[in-house]
Amino acid sequence: MYVSELGEQWRRARLRPEIVHLDSAAAGRSSNAVIGSISAHLWRETERGSYVAAEDRADEIARDKRDLASLIGHTADELAFRESARAALRALLTYWNLPMSTTVWVAKNEFGPNLVEFERRGYAVRPLPDADLAGHVDTDALENMLQFEQPDFIHVCHVGSASGVVQPVTRIVEIAHAAAVPVVIDMAQSAGHTPTVTGADVVYGTSRKWLTGPRGVGFVAVRSDALRPVEVESSEAFVAGRLGLGVAVSELLAIGQQRVFRELAAIGRYTRERLDGIGSWEVLEPIDEPSAITTLAPPPGWQTADVAAARDKLFSLGILVTAADSWRAPLATEQSVLRVSPHLDVEREDLDRLADALRTMGY
Ligand SMILES: *Cc1c(COP(=O)(O)O)cnc(C)c1O
Repeated sequence: MYVSELGEQWRRARLRPEIVHLDSAAAGRSSNAVIGSISAHLWRETERGSYVAAEDRADEIARDKRDLASLIGHTADELAFRESARAALRALLTYWNLPMSTTVWVAKNEFGPNLVEFERRGYAVRPLPDADLAGHVDTDALENMLQFEQPDFIHVCHVGSASGVVQPVTRIVEIAHAAAVPVVIDMAQSAGHTPTVTGADVVYGTSRKWLTGPRGVGFVAVRSDALRPVEVESSEAFVAGRLGLGVAVSELLAIGQQRVFRELAAIGRYTRERLDGIGSWEVLEPIDEPSAITTLAPPPGWQTADVAAARDKLFSLGILVTAADSWRAPLATEQSVLRVSPHLDVEREDLDRLADALRTMGY
């Protein structure tokens, strides 16, 4: 029995998985239509020549751009493609005309590899204070801090890689803009998952996670007064992949984005209620956090290697989740957690199987 009323529709659009797939935060499962559009384009490339095949699809490509842009609160001409979210961030930092000694403020859930990008460029990185134990940014403290000092930009992971916490990005953007500070939002985990119209100056993300597009496609949208988006687009492109992402976005819009976000939040709540406390694993998000990512802290005394072993054991039982080590969010935690990230087609039995496996593991 599906957890969501959209479960059956979502499943019917895809192959039945061979495993219990609870790992959309790593890579979601593409629909048959997405895979069909990618392979059809690859065939056309060989029949008509790749550049002609792309030209043939110009209208579709333009429409896809408008759809994706509208989903993330930008316009089509602000949007550019790269091969991943990280490549999008790199391109942004390369072409953005930032001062010699750049200061960036980040939320505590900042993705470790993003911090590496900042540090290798010599930026001064300052973490923003949390408002609560879950790790939401304290927006009152931010407002206060900005009265005394302004960073060159604020960078926030809308949803991080090691937690289902959703940052209050709309409020952060409002406060930052009142102090004339630009905001960059990492939407790798939020695009297709939570509402993503934020008013931010730059947003970027990836196709393969919650949007369930193909791997190897990332995007970045830059408000025109901040930077010219044409500069950040790569000249070579996985056109078939972009068309596949376009189909994934149009499927999401056809269901209704708000409905999808609501159902994913309900799945998160159901998952947390189902799993909390089982076998001494502890759910780290507030039960009603509006996302479908649940992270579980291991029983007391477990080390990083034990969590990795638990993930492998689950996989041997046919259940796919991520063991999320602290490199994913080094400012937030030193602890490894299990990350459970079902999509709309999760069934109650899937979570029962996970709960049973967790119960019998170690304790
Ligand atoms: C996955 C992820 C990224 C990186 O995305 P890629 O497309 O793999 O480069 C960046 N930020 C967050 C929060 C992520 O979860």
